[in-house]
Amino acid sequence: MKTVIIGANHAGIAAANTLLDNYPDQKVVMIDRNTNLSYLGCGTALWVGRQIDSYENLFYTNKEAFEAKGADIRMETTVKGIDFKAKKVSCESADGNVYEESYDKLVLATGSLPIDPKIPGNDLEGISFLKLFQDGQGVDKQISDPNVKNVAVIGAGYIGVEIAEAAKRRGKEVRLFDVAPTSLASYYDPWFSEDMDKNLEEHGIEAHYGERATAYKGNGRVEAVVTDKGEYPAELVINAIGFVPNTALGKEHLDCFANGAYRVDRHQQTSDPDVYAVGDCATIYSNALQAETYIALATNAVRSGIVAGHNIGGTPLESIGVQGSNGISIFGYNMVSTGLSVKAAEKNGMKVSYTDYEDLQKPGFMKENAKVKIRIVYETESRRVVGAQMASADDISMGIHMFSLAIEEGVTIDKLKLLDIFFLPHFNQPYNYITMAALGAK
Ligand SMILES: Cc1cc2nc3c(=O)[nH]c(=O)nc-3n(C[C@H](O)[C@H](O)[C@H](O)COP(=O)(O)OP(=O)(O)OC[C@H]3O[C@@H](n4cnc5c(N)ncnc54)[C@H](O)[C@@H]3O)c2cc1C
Repeated sequence: MKTVIIGANHAGIAAANTLLDNYPDQKVVMIDRNTNLSYLGCGTALWVGRQIDSYENLFYTNKEAFEAKGADIRMETTVKGIDFKAKKVSCESADGNVYEESYDKLVLATGSLPIDPKIPGNDLEGISFLKLFQDGQGVDKQISDPNVKNVAVIGAGYIGVEIAEAAKRRGKEVRLFDVAPTSLASYYDPWFSEDMDKNLEEHGIEAHYGERATAYKGNGRVEAVVTDKGEYPAELVINAIGFVPNTALGKEHLDCFANGAYRVDRHQQTSDPDVYAVGDCATIYSNALQAETYIALATNAVRSGIVAGHNIGGTPLESIGVQGSNGISIFGYNMVSTGLSVKAAEKNGMKVSYTDYEDLQKPGFMKENAKVKIRIVYETESRRVVGAQMASADDISMGIHMFSLAIEEGVTIDKLKLLDIFFLPHFNQPYNYITMAALGAK
């Protein structure tokens, strides 16, 4: 059995490793147009902001590791087209060699592409995206240039906020733009995002929410960003307004979701039984929504790759669905969430209630202590937990995984009220914030 995997980043790597590690009879061909693989984009802001020493450890594997496992891996090779009937992909390598590769099973792991706002001036120098390692290198180089004094970040999602922090850490004047009224508007309710906004402001980042970039001005190189409310100097613009699934190769042949992602079942199988899709190019099942959705995260990419690998290898395995759990840590302030915010639930037509609680993380007598806040979101009628958000200067991240499992398992808010949660002053209060929030639910 020969499996061709198009795309050798997080999702493709997970599918390949699953096949190579568990099914020795499988022949695996991996094809990717990039020069590198396994780059952790989440490290870009840490590196650009000099919170880590270099980018070198942001790659967790390499071509040689796959060759050692017996894979045939071709980097700098672009798949130009797929003949789904003849089960062949046409490839072009960097040296211009054009050839076809046949498959028994095909895994599409072509990921996502950054959204280009396509506004006047977007071909000027100094306008960057933040997706590939090469993008990170480009941004880092420009931030190192003393002539770059003003950095404009377009999009205040987690990538925009992280790179705004990094640019500020490098001493730049940073302006952060978003059409939404707060930062992180897709993941958190305003009760949380407004804390992040305050945090950004206290660290000197100038936020322009409710403002849409309409043009870039400059002469060869960008000099200013124009919005519907004003004009601001910028020698570097970083576009971080989101991603679209990269589905050019299969969109004519395969069923696609509203945003263009390949629709897959719980085995990662597309509408063509010999073709699987994984990671950012595919849909995913949301347990909170109880429906198919699109959530581009490395964690989902890896899990979906593992599921596809086992199904192709011969072990039927269904995805258990996801909650879209995520976290962000900016200037020492940590926010984590899973499932749906109130806003996201309502946008999806769900009737939800929520319960909030705010307190110190540990008993008042503990010297090292920080505030913590929590919101649990549950379906009003069924009382099923569908989301949770938590924030603190302390590391409260591990608690969110319990909510992830609660959503996955359809646990009700009432089950959390008297849940056995331990108490030790080093970690929490006898009346801990999770219990208190749950008890507060009507
Ligand atoms: C700055 C940044 C920070 C992030 N931080 C986090 C984080 O903290 N946590 C988290 O979970 N996620 C994070 N993400 C999201 C995460 O990186 C993506 O969800 C993940 O990369 C998806 O993996 P993938 O393998 O599906 O797709 P991709 O990473 O997009 O990889 C697709 C691969 O397919 C190849 N390809 C595409 N078309 C072709 C073709 N025609 N021929 C050959 N090769 C092709 C590409 O070269 C690429 O290597 C971040 C993303 C960015 C950009």
